[in-house]
Amino acid sequence: MEEKGVTRRQFIKYAGATAALLGLSQALVPEIARALEEMAASGKPPVLWIQGQNCTGCSVSFLNTNYPDAAEVVLDKLSVRYQPTVMAAAGYQAFGVIEDTAKELAGKYVLVVEGPIPTAEGGEFCTFGLEEGTKDLLGNKVPKDKPIEVWMEQLVPGAAAVIALGNCASFGGIPAANAEVTGTTAVLDVVKKIDKDKPVINVSGCPSHPDWFIGTVLYYLLNGKVPELDRYNRPTMFFGKLIHENCERRASFDAGLFLEDWNDNNPDMKLCLFKMGCKGPVTYADCPTRRWNSAVNWCVGANAPCHGCAEPAFYKDLSPLYEPLPDINFMGINNAETLGWIAAGATAAGIVGHYLYKQLGKKAPEGGEE
Ligand code: SF4
Ligand code: SF4
Repeated sequence: MEEKGVTRRQFIKYAGATAALLGLSQALVPEIARALEEMAASGKPPVLWIQGQNCTGCSVSFLNTNYPDAAEVVLDKLSVRYQPTVMAAAGYQAFGVIEDTAKELAGKYVLVVEGPIPTAEGGEFCTFGLEEGTKDLLGNKVPKDKPIEVWMEQLVPGAAAVIALGNCASFGGIPAANAEVTGTTAVLDVVKKIDKDKPVINVSGCPSHPDWFIGTVLYYLLNGKVPELDRYNRPTMFFGKLIHENCERRASFDAGLFLEDWNDNNPDMKLCLFKMGCKGPVTYADCPTRRWNSAVNWCVGANAPCHGCAEPAFYKDLSPLYEPLPDINFMGINNAETLGWIAAGATAAGIVGHYLYKQLGKKAPEGGEE
């Protein structure tokens, strides 16, 4: 580390930040420091990061990480061989890197997939690079666009693990809201058809929080295994608690104090946003405690309802985003105020969360309270 101009003090600070990122005790900092040193000595783990039906929002969110910063992760901690948003190389040169890595480092690289996989029409809704096509009338080989589905068949077998980054890659997300056109398929479903035993980690969110991604990668590298996952393959260390449980406006929900109109201009009241469409009661993520943009704020803190962007039901089954959750009818009670009073008296976060999940035709995830 010192050869690279990193002082012992800076290194220990970095190990401390890693512990905080992973939700570990600071007492484990010496152990983390040792593991990081061993990791640095054994060479940088290779990563291939490909993009399907995505908006690059998760790449941009990753670039907003500040500790460690994105350049440090891409250039120093990992050997990111291919990342189309930030790499300078393009065309054959770049695609050649993917193919070389797949051959030379089979079994060692982590495959990050941002965006789901369109499978309709031979996969031609998302292609990059070329593959061998048919022959023309003169017998010359004519190359054709290479669908990401074909890349997956090529890259999944040699991957040590696959990370589906963002809600779209994890569950289909926004592209799956009209899936019948493009055949949008979640990464996990595509991977399981290729190799049912391949570890797949869903780091969901729209976009995914940079800590969720970097924390998952660091956990995997430090421990050599996939972190504990919930029933939707999300790491429980980031997606184990209901937003509603830790929300700073929970007291307003319990007291039946709801914002009814966006023009009610009294932000100090911190009214609950349930009636304005907040999906916090059915969403598992640590946004209220981790917060976003270097812990500056988060959706509800900025007076916006949680849209449930970490959930499998997002977007199709949680929209319209600014409408309350559908068909709220708990034990014959169907208005939010009364539900709030019941919640106050009956430790009902779990009951309400579980109930609302049932309303959406889902089961509450393991790892979260039911
Ligand atoms: S409904 Fe939303 S705003 Fe209200 S307490 Fe729950 S998470 Fe917070
Ligand atoms: S608060 Fe809800 S909508 Fe906002 S980032 Fe977290 S899970 Fe997504």
